[in-house]
Amino acid sequence: MPTRKRNNPAGSRLIFGDLWEYDPAPETADPKLKGRYDLFIDGRFVRPRSGKYFPSINPANERKLSDIALAGPADVDLAYRAAARAFPKWSAMAGRERGKYLFRIARLLQDRAREFAVAETLDGGKPIKESRDFDVPMAAAHFFYHAGWADKLEYVAPGRRVSPLGVVGQVIPWNFPLLMLAWKLAPALAMGNCVVLKPAETTSITALKLAEILQDAELPPGVVNFVTGAGETGALVMGHPGAAKVAFTGSTEVGKAIMRQLAGTDKKMTMELGGKAANIIFDDAPIDQAVEGIVNAIFFNQGHVCCAGSRLLVQESVADRVVAKLKNRIRVLRVGDPLDKNTDLGAINSRAQLATIKRLVASGVREGAVMYQPPCALPERGFYFPPTLFTGVTQSHRIAREEIFGPVLSILTFRTVDEAIEKANNTAYGLSAGVWTDKGSRILRMSTELRAGVVWANTFNRFDPSSPFGGYKESGFGREGGRQGLIDYVNLA
Ligand code: NDP
Repeated sequence: MPTRKRNNPAGSRLIFGDLWEYDPAPETADPKLKGRYDLFIDGRFVRPRSGKYFPSINPANERKLSDIALAGPADVDLAYRAAARAFPKWSAMAGRERGKYLFRIARLLQDRAREFAVAETLDGGKPIKESRDFDVPMAAAHFFYHAGWADKLEYVAPGRRVSPLGVVGQVIPWNFPLLMLAWKLAPALAMGNCVVLKPAETTSITALKLAEILQDAELPPGVVNFVTGAGETGALVMGHPGAAKVAFTGSTEVGKAIMRQLAGTDKKMTMELGGKAANIIFDDAPIDQAVEGIVNAIFFNQGHVCCAGSRLLVQESVADRVVAKLKNRIRVLRVGDPLDKNTDLGAINSRAQLATIKRLVASGVREGAVMYQPPCALPERGFYFPPTLFTGVTQSHRIAREEIFGPVLSILTFRTVDEAIEKANNTAYGLSAGVWTDKGSRILRMSTELRAGVVWANTFNRFDPSSPFGGYKESGFGREGGRQGLIDYVNLA
């Protein structure tokens, strides 16, 4: 309508905030980093037998943050022996006493939340608003939740006799370093196990800072041991004969390698691997909310999320509208300094991951999909990638099949519910999915027929310590969180 257009040149289009500029808003809390971090074994920081250290880099500016000890076979063995010595007393301790340690860890983490958030952002590149409002509070929540389970072993599997497994070997990735550590440690400790854990090479710092908290909490020596290093150290942790169970989160490729390595042993195993989640928008969905959900699903943590909604399936009748709104929305995502409180997308975790993202994006262009990137000035130093959309994607494109693990969304369309289900399930993965619709019955049908461990309805990327998380197919097996997550950390008789 002409009059309205004169007053509002964009018609009914929502205009996001490119009408003003933001002043810098850097977070300034001291992360209290050490220039060098040793291994944490038997309750103490010890120099590696290997004598070797490797640098941990800030991906936002490529500057060195600290030197991290490189654990070799002798160090990993030392850690397992310390854990085995600690196990009899720790497992025999009354559950309510074990619970007190977990409560103490959770509270100490809350006390130092700001410092941990800054350390996490410096080491991993994620925006401070995410480490401050998600990673650190959720990590504390996991310790609180599992503290409550420590004296309730008999309720983990009613009617069965429940006992701890022994020493557990754990390897975690770089996308949620502190949170993945909490997902792994808290249930293992609550159930009376001892732990040898390896953080990812690029993000070891918050684990080693948590070791300081374990000391302050006076956790008995040897109950938790951190051995830092790269993939070779991870293989040593997984393959050590002292591990009664191994728990791994990372890529499907490495998960398969570990399964091959451990075939023929009697170790228990849980695997939380990759994903290529479908986020499905029906034409009756609240479109503006769905657009926010799409942005959260793929751009949260730069898309370094195993359950990221990286495949958008939009019903054909609303596809143009959704894509137009999405382009409009991502124009105002702020990419840059992760320590700035207004930043939406921080740094890509490493040079290697940036190269992977670029390689897969180039394949999308080569295979004929249409790329859209908003105008976006990236910092000169550091590892950055702009928010990216691909339209015209088909099921056979690599960007529709492979995990990109970056801020890149592949958009496909569908006409019917059956087609949406078939396309969503047409993947080797099965970790998560999202459904946006007004109809409850459709949500129920979709959540039954989608082969995914988690199905979110009219939301995405929601987590809670009481809610089990885990995959189907090549996304792995076993659950983390909730009562189901505890079953994987006990013997049942
Ligand atoms: P990896 O699977 O290589 O790393 C995960 C963890 O396993 C890290 O601690 C790694 O150590 C360790 N590791 C590597 N090789 C071995 C081995 N042979 N035995 C035991 N542990 C090992 O993932 P990347 O970090 O290389 O990321 C690559 C891809 O993996 C991403 O692009 C993404 O697709 C996927 N990924 C999925 C995650 C998820 O949550 N499902 C999380 C992270 C990655 P180190 O880091 O020191 O090499």
